[in-house]
Amino acid sequence: MSSPAPQPLRVALWLAAQGFAVHPLTPGLKVPVRGCDRCSPGTAERPNPAYVEHDGHACPCHAAGLPCHGVLAATTDPDHISGWWATTPAAGVGVAAGPSGLMILDVDCHGGDVPTDPEQLLPGVELPADIAPGSVRDGQDVLALLVEARRATLPGCPPETLTVRTPSGGVHYWFRAPDGTQWRPMASALGWQLDMRAGSSYAVAPGTVTRSGAYTALGDCRTVAELPVWLARDLDRTGHRVRPERPRVALPRPRDVGNGYVAAAVEGELRAVAEAPSGTRNHTLNRAAFNLGTLHAAARLDRAQIVDVLTDAARHAGLPEREAEAAIRSGMSAGERQPRPLAGVAT
Ligand SMILES: [Zn+2]
Ligand SMILES: [Zn+2]
Repeated sequence: MSSPAPQPLRVALWLAAQGFAVHPLTPGLKVPVRGCDRCSPGTAERPNPAYVEHDGHACPCHAAGLPCHGVLAATTDPDHISGWWATTPAAGVGVAAGPSGLMILDVDCHGGDVPTDPEQLLPGVELPADIAPGSVRDGQDVLALLVEARRATLPGCPPETLTVRTPSGGVHYWFRAPDGTQWRPMASALGWQLDMRAGSSYAVAPGTVTRSGAYTALGDCRTVAELPVWLARDLDRTGHRVRPERPRVALPRPRDVGNGYVAAAVEGELRAVAEAPSGTRNHTLNRAAFNLGTLHAAARLDRAQIVDVLTDAARHAGLPEREAEAAIRSGMSAGERQPRPLAGVAT
């Protein structure tokens, strides 16, 4: 006997209250609801003539509370969420992995031909030579092999983190991404029938019912655990981790100044910002913007380029974009009000 599925709106608000960003799914399906006319390209067979091509990341529909562009609309705002499910009460609940700080291990159990080469089961993992024929049938068995190879414990037995059974018999293990890290979704890179939902991908929340069946939470655990360290190491090894690009610590070419003092000053400031420990980042960025602000008129440096490289260094340090923008703007303006002459320091 099974209890009735909880109301989608209640699930969505419950997830949002934990900081997980949600978006509505088309009733009965596991795809996002259609956005407004302007934002929906339609399908190959039935293109939408009202569609206007644009970047969904900057779409004004999101501020207006419309669920356009699927994952890109995901939010924790209870007003937007209540509005969406008032419009479509039967919409399923999608959870956007990256914005929620979630990594969801998707273990498939849909049969298919089992690879005979161990390197295709778990690429890069040394497996015992004596795997019994027929003992590996699906993703759950491949995960068990990985867990054994790492001398770890299976995260869901008994569930120590929110674990969801999918209509096709697969299992989703929900984890929190380690602080300050970014990850990308990749199918099968970890292992056969083992996918990772992270970054721009989403998972269907428990309680959602589609035409194929229900997504149900297993056991009693309804909290989300940290990603186990052993699994984080493997996902890093398989390329799921997004590594911050190296910051640019020099301007392309200080225009016709060509003096070592200016280049060294710029480089020193940018390096300080890029490497600033958390807690001092905003202050370091503001001070760097001030120092370069005092300098750029006399050094004939391009202001836009300075802002650009400061922004890049701040991004590398992990400073939120809006915070960085404000620190740069106020620092530069203050510096520009106290210009420094280069005479005497130019070498
Ligand atoms: Zn729209
Ligand atoms: Zn749009």
